Amino acid sequence: MSMNGPWQRTAEGAGLLKSDGVVRPTIFAEMSALAQATGAINLGQGFPDEDGPAEVLDAARRAISEGLNQYPPGLGMPVLRTAIADHQRRFYGLDLDPDRQVLVTAGATEALAATILAFVDDGDEVVTLEPFYDAYGGLIALSRGIHRTVPLRLPHFLPDHDDLRRAVTDRTKLIVINNPHNPTGAVLPRETLELIVELAHQHDALIVTDEVYEHLTFDAPHIPIATLPGAWQRTITISSGGKTFNTTGWKVGWITARHKLITAIVAVKQFLTYVNAAPFQPAIALGLGLPDEFFERLAADLRHKRDVLSAGLAKAGFEVHDSHASYFVVADAAPLGFTDATDLCRQLPELAGVVGVPLSAFCHDELAGEYSSLVRFAFCKRVDVLELAAKQLSRLGR
Ligand code: PMP
Ligand code: GLN
Repeated sequence: MSMNGPWQRTAEGAGLLKSDGVVRPTIFAEMSALAQATGAINLGQGFPDEDGPAEVLDAARRAISEGLNQYPPGLGMPVLRTAIADHQRRFYGLDLDPDRQVLVTAGATEALAATILAFVDDGDEVVTLEPFYDAYGGLIALSRGIHRTVPLRLPHFLPDHDDLRRAVTDRTKLIVINNPHNPTGAVLPRETLELIVELAHQHDALIVTDEVYEHLTFDAPHIPIATLPGAWQRTITISSGGKTFNTTGWKVGWITARHKLITAIVAVKQFLTYVNAAPFQPAIALGLGLPDEFFERLAADLRHKRDVLSAGLAKAGFEVHDSHASYFVVADAAPLGFTDATDLCRQLPELAGVVGVPLSAFCHDELAGEYSSLVRFAFCKRVDVLELAAKQLSRLGR
């Protein structure tokens, strides 16, 4: 079968089904199911085990009581679009028109789906970093694009600038970055962001930036690529309330970009979900307006959790990579004698009562080898849970 045949925009063609016709579950679903079946501590799927701010939760309850239970407007409720624009001004100095340059989506996932489907046609190339969040691969395949990747190099999980220059060509339609980065916790330095803007100009590509972890940075404030000189015109910025407000199940996401780009994305989005999450939209709007101390405490709490888990993993015998942001830390199991992280993650519930995700799950086969003994652990869990997980993991070294 040809790689670019019409068959590919099917679940089967895009490789989303197994050969026996069964859905290929995402690695996160698979690992959460394993945790549930075994009773192991779930440091696999990245979701917090504590509620977010009470005022945000109360606002959603209030919205339901007050009858905000029907379809919201196609672009999202004005109160949320205004809050998103205000947030971009307050944190990043970006001036947005909430009626023309902001779109509310069903999580960052729908934002990615609508954007990729809106701009990628048969055979267009899409460049991402690798490892990459799994939805990127599935969505690029569904849009019949060609997925090119730039490896993140050990030990810091940063891309080599020459690799980036080689990957972006006149065939590139989108450069998709994820900054801060899942699964590695890496943060792209300004020079790399500048190079990406330069390459996008040179090759007339659009930049799609997934910044769902924008408030979860531990060492330096987040730099949205859209704030760099020359970037705004060709950048589509995606974020979500899930990580910032511990509401991953609400699926309230958004896109900010210039009007013409938003319009193309709306054309697709209206036929994906049309709209979602009516009572949650004003609640996330309230969250985005919380005082600075909320955002500072959020990052400080997670930084502490990162420290607890990183220290525990090191003590258990893993070689731990620095995580500068996100919910995740990568640890190398090779010093413990485990060279295949996929095998290890399958056995980990039995060996240590813990679930993690092999880094290879975020990679194409060619690169997976380089990362074969690396495991991603999520630290967005209660400190006592992280301490217990670390203690249990220390059994591996015995
Ligand atoms: N992008 C990245 C990098 C993620 O880690 C996630 C997972 N939460 C998403 C997108 C999806 O976000 P949402 O739940 O808002 O759809
Ligand atoms: N983003 C979360 C993670 O990386 C999971 C999201 C999902 O389950 N699709 O763990």
